Amino acid sequence: MIPYGKQNITEEDIQAVAKALKGDFLTQGPTILEFEKAFANYIGCNYAVAVSNGTAALHLSALALGVQEGDKVITTPITFAASANCIRYCGGEVVFSDIDLDTYLLDINKVEALLKAAPKGAYKGIVPVDFTGRAVNLEDFRKLADEYGLWILEDSCHSPGGYFIDSKGENQNCGNGNYADLAIFSFHPVKHIATGEGGMVTTNDETLYKQLLRLRSHGITKGDDKYTNTLDFANGQKGLDIYPGWYMEMQQLGFNYRFTDFQAALGISQLSRADKGIERRREIAKKYADSFINKSFIKGHSNFVEGHAYHLYVIEVENRIGLYNYLLEHKIFAQIHYIPCHLMPYYREKGWKEGDMTNAENYYKHCISLPMYPTLTVEEQDFVIEKIIQFYG
Ligand SMILES: *Cc1c(COP(=O)(O)O)cnc(C)c1O
Repeated sequence: MIPYGKQNITEEDIQAVAKALKGDFLTQGPTILEFEKAFANYIGCNYAVAVSNGTAALHLSALALGVQEGDKVITTPITFAASANCIRYCGGEVVFSDIDLDTYLLDINKVEALLKAAPKGAYKGIVPVDFTGRAVNLEDFRKLADEYGLWILEDSCHSPGGYFIDSKGENQNCGNGNYADLAIFSFHPVKHIATGEGGMVTTNDETLYKQLLRLRSHGITKGDDKYTNTLDFANGQKGLDIYPGWYMEMQQLGFNYRFTDFQAALGISQLSRADKGIERRREIAKKYADSFINKSFIKGHSNFVEGHAYHLYVIEVENRIGLYNYLLEHKIFAQIHYIPCHLMPYYREKGWKEGDMTNAENYYKHCISLPMYPTLTVEEQDFVIEKIIQFYG
């Protein structure tokens, strides 16, 4: 059986988790901070906050950015539902905007048209998604966002290790915080770095960072000098400078979105192989690209893209359902990413319908994600390519 994506757990990973399990902490312990620092270093940002999953990372980010009842936020319909849902968790309104057919990413011209047509201040933020691992050009989005006073929350779940090239010719890593206010990652088993469940928020903004730390654990502050309560602790002693050891404060409404120490140990071990993994993913992508060059069944492009993190390898084809079933017969489990979000019953109920996002809808009719993961063998990939060519032969 050849799936479209798969985790890679090595003996070193298992040893790392076993060691963490023998330590003093099961949930939030010192290994989490170590993982956060290693991840921030890998991405090239100042701060990272590990949380229980990518969806929690999105929820906390939306909260930290201040999304409130009725706030309008723009995102792409070609993404996992959570990119949009996080706005709904906070009572905000999701406004989908169509994709660019070359990149499959949010089309900045369409976003600009939306902003131009609305009264000033109508929109609060944008959630661009580095879909398939291809980096959104956030330099361009930042300019637009600044013009309209919007924040940017980058969904980088597909793109740890991905980058775009800015106007100065420099690589800008996904999630590095140079342009987006916050970025989020997931450590679900199909993603680049797997910890079972897990997520991360990255940023260069210290205020947002501190808020995320609080929100991750019930909105509780402990052991810093930012207490605000003056209680009678004992014998009539009051004051902001006399806090006993047990003292803590719930300063806002937070959640339990904590990560665990043994997952962090797995994350550190996985992260140490991230570069190798991406190298192999790019090798696989090059081979697919070379194999499909000038093939008449390929709609659109299938060229290799620099800076792409290749979480997914998507092609657009004629008779997609035929190919999907043919591959399945040969135990190749391709996948479709994604059914457009705006056509999910939940969002249809909010008024979205077929014809609203014609690029996304046309893309969806033809897209198929081929097997893409570092441990895919040369023989397995050859078999996948052979079966695709055979099907259209
Ligand atoms: C996986 C994923 C998420 C959600 O991550 P979980 O860890 O599964 O909660 C959000 N957005 C995108 C684009 C994803 O691929």
